[in-house]
Formats: sequence, C-alpha cells, structure tokens
Amino acid sequence: MNTNDTEIAWSILQEKGYQRTANISEADVVLVMTCAIREGAEQKIWRKLKHLTTLKRRGPLRKGGTRMKIGILGCMAERLKTQILEKEKLVDIVCGPDAYRDLPRLLAVTNNKQSAVNVLLSLEETYADVMPVRLNEDSVTAYVSIMRGCDNMCSYCIVPFTRGRERSRPIDSILEEVRILSDQGVKEVTLLGQNVNSYRDISESDYYGVPDRSQATTLREGFKTIYKPKSGGRRFADLLDKVSDIDKDMRIRFTAAHPKDFPDEVLHLIKERGNICNQLHLPAQSGNNQVLKAMRRGYTVEAYMNLVGHVRSLLPGVALTSDFICGFCGETEEAHQQSIKLIRDVKYSMVFCFPYSMRQKTQAFHKLEDDVLEDDKKRRHAELAATFRQEAGEFNKTYVGQVHTVLVEGVSKKRRDTLFGRNDAGLAVIFPDSEVLDGNLARQPRPGDYVQIKIEQTTAQTLYGSALKITNLYNTDSDEVLKEIHS
Ligand code: SF4
Repeated sequence: MNTNDTEIAWSILQEKGYQRTANISEADVVLVMTCAIREGAEQKIWRKLKHLTTLKRRGPLRKGGTRMKIGILGCMAERLKTQILEKEKLVDIVCGPDAYRDLPRLLAVTNNKQSAVNVLLSLEETYADVMPVRLNEDSVTAYVSIMRGCDNMCSYCIVPFTRGRERSRPIDSILEEVRILSDQGVKEVTLLGQNVNSYRDISESDYYGVPDRSQATTLREGFKTIYKPKSGGRRFADLLDKVSDIDKDMRIRFTAAHPKDFPDEVLHLIKERGNICNQLHLPAQSGNNQVLKAMRRGYTVEAYMNLVGHVRSLLPGVALTSDFICGFCGETEEAHQQSIKLIRDVKYSMVFCFPYSMRQKTQAFHKLEDDVLEDDKKRRHAELAATFRQEAGEFNKTYVGQVHTVLVEGVSKKRRDTLFGRNDAGLAVIFPDSEVLDGNLARQPRPGDYVQIKIEQTTAQTLYGSALKITNLYNTDSDEVLKEIHS
C-alpha cells in the first residue's frame, strides 16, 4: 500500500512539474513514505530522518537560501505529527495519507522557511482521479488501490487511526486504471485494500452495467463484525468480474481479505477465470480462541478452519497465505503452540509473522497488558517462522515434476544467468536464461512473458526448474497446465 501511496504522491507532484532524481545530493526535497504498523517500522524511519537531517545540515544552500527540504508522508505522519515537527525538529513537511493532493501547497509554504502540516483524515478521499505514476515503469506487475482505511478495529491495529474510515474507490475509475496498465504491457495487477471483501462502490455510475447488489453482507457461521453490516452498492465480486474481463492475459491478485466476510461468489470467479490467481491471503493472526477474542478478530479457530475447508473444497490446490502476531497480550505458551498447530494444519504457501508491538490509540493500548516478555516474543516468532519453513519445504516438494505457468519478472538477483518469475500461487520460480520455443521459433524469454516451467527442485519459498515453452493465459494448452497444477 505504501508503494501505491508513493506512486499517487509522485503523480500529484509530477503534474506540478517536479522531477525525480535517484541521486540524493541533487534533491531539493526528500519525501519519506512511512509506516506505523509496528515499532520496528517506525524506528527505521527515525534513523533515516537523523541521517537525512545530517545531509541537510552539511549540504549546499539551494536557490533562495534554503536547504534541502525533508518531508514525511503516510501513517507515521498522522500518528506523530507533533513530535516530528516540534520536538524532534527533523522535518519541514508532515503529510498524512489523505492529504497528498495538498503536497504542492505544503511545499510552497516551506519556501518561506516555515514548516507545513496536513494530516486531516477524510471520509471520501480515494484518489480516484489520480493515475499513479509507477516508480518502476519497466515492471510487468502493478498495484491498484481499490479502497482506503478500515472499519474493523482489531484491538492491536493502528490502521483505522492512521488511515481513517473505510471508503471504496468507484468501479469505473479502477477499471480505467487497469485498462491503462494493460495498454502499458502490465501483466499482473494486485488489487489493494485493508479488507477487499468489504469493498462497496456506492457511486451513482452504472456505465459498465454492473448490477446493483444491494443486499447486506452475509457473514458465515462463526464470524461477526463489530460494525453494522454494510448494504447497497456494487461489491468486490462485481469489481473482480469486471477487472478480470479487461485483459485475459493479465493476472489478477488481491489482498488483503479479512476471513469474516468471504463470499462464495468470489471463490466461484477464481475457479472460472484462468487469469484470477488461485491464491488467497487469509490472515489468521492466532490459533487460540482467547487471543483471537482479545484481538477482536470476530472469529474462532474452528470457524477459520471451516472456511479453509470450504475454500479448498471449491478451489482444490488453492495457495493460502497468512499473517500471525507472536506474543500478543495474554498469549500463553499453550496459545502459542496452537498457532504452531494452525500453521501445520493449514499448510500455508507463505506466512508473515511478527512479534507484537503495542501501538498507542489502539484498544489493546487502553485495555490490555503487553505482558509477554520481549525474549519470548522473539523466540515464538522464530518458532512460527521455522514451522512455516518446515511445512512449506515439505509441501513444495510435491511440485517436483509438475509444469507451472510463470510470469517472467526479470533477471534473478541470485544468479545473473537465471530468470525470476512467479507462478499462479505467487511462489518465486527461478530457471535458466536460455532460448525457449515461442510457437515454432526459439527465443530468450523476456519480462512479461508467460513461460511453462517444469519444476525440478524446491525450497520453502522458491521453486527451480527448466523452461519448456512460452505460452499465455488463455490458450487451452495453458489451461490444461493450470488444471494440472490445481489438481
Ligand atoms: S482488518 Fe484489522 S488488522 Fe486489518 S487493517 Fe483493519 S483493523 Fe487493522
């Protein structure tokens, strides 16, 4: 999301005539996109700001006698505006996630050697009319933001406070952006939101003929929300239907999906459409019911496992990924073992786990005690990560001998004579950079090509193989390969 926010901010500045440089000594302005989700992310930014202020002090005077300007953007800007501006005196501009349109004005204010701040949160801002300028225009993958903010209020999470209330971007502006990306040769789009399943376009436009599904969200048994179920407008299944129809040779992924409102319509669409990836991010956060209750996640482990079973019954072979927090308030050793068990039971293709760090403003900060020792959090984190690696390592061995369709992203960082790409499940695949058949002719694969790769070796996070031929997502040949993978 921060990558996408950076692209939005950059688009707004480029429109006003700003230019980008990769050489910091040339820069008149340095803007740092920040994240407040965990203490560790904030510490990195403080270190970066100290380094930048040293550069600023030692650097040359700019036109008008000013020095290089430093601005911070994003969630940390909203969270720590006073400390950053007044106490630390490190920056000139503080601009929150809903104020990027104001950046040109904020920069103008600093011309008079004043600091400038705008961290107002909005109920409407979705930057629907801002076409993000991709930071790497050669990339064959792109992010498209479909909504902002979050209403879930999980007790540990600062997002609802730093990014505000949930609001969805109108469908037609999303479709327009995806069309432009397709024209630019982008082959994979990831739709972004804190909880994509609660997407609802309540704008008036029916230009694309999307039906109005006005029913309220129906929750699965064992799931609940703390807010009133939303109704009206066009929902995520409508959006996914339209987006995946734009370019049959463009892969569509989405993240994140809160497990509480996962509709079957979305699962059926994934099954039907060859270009919607057979991969779902279902953040579990914990394998213990007491901890889940304290987190206000709105489900039990049993309900989560029922959902996993249901998803796998409709989408055999689906790759599931997840997030886990280690050492949340009140997490006992037994509760931690239950998280380990959940990872073993589900067999995720990727797990992101983090030691818990308490954030101000959250419900946990006001009502719970951060009572797990830091050493225990670190150990539990290492144990969860090791469990995931062991399970994924074993599971990935079952891929040996299969043929996967891989979107080539570029040269592998590990070995320059190999290429790197991802399969339908989002797993990294590495293969030799040599000529391969494209129809009847042989040629080197290029970024943006889909290549059929025979898997020969695997680790917990990477598959290695050899290229068979260049393909696409819509020919029957490739469909057969996808079916083979999914079965
Ligand atoms: S769903 Fe929960 S964890 Fe995710 S952004 Fe919203 S409040 Fe935070």
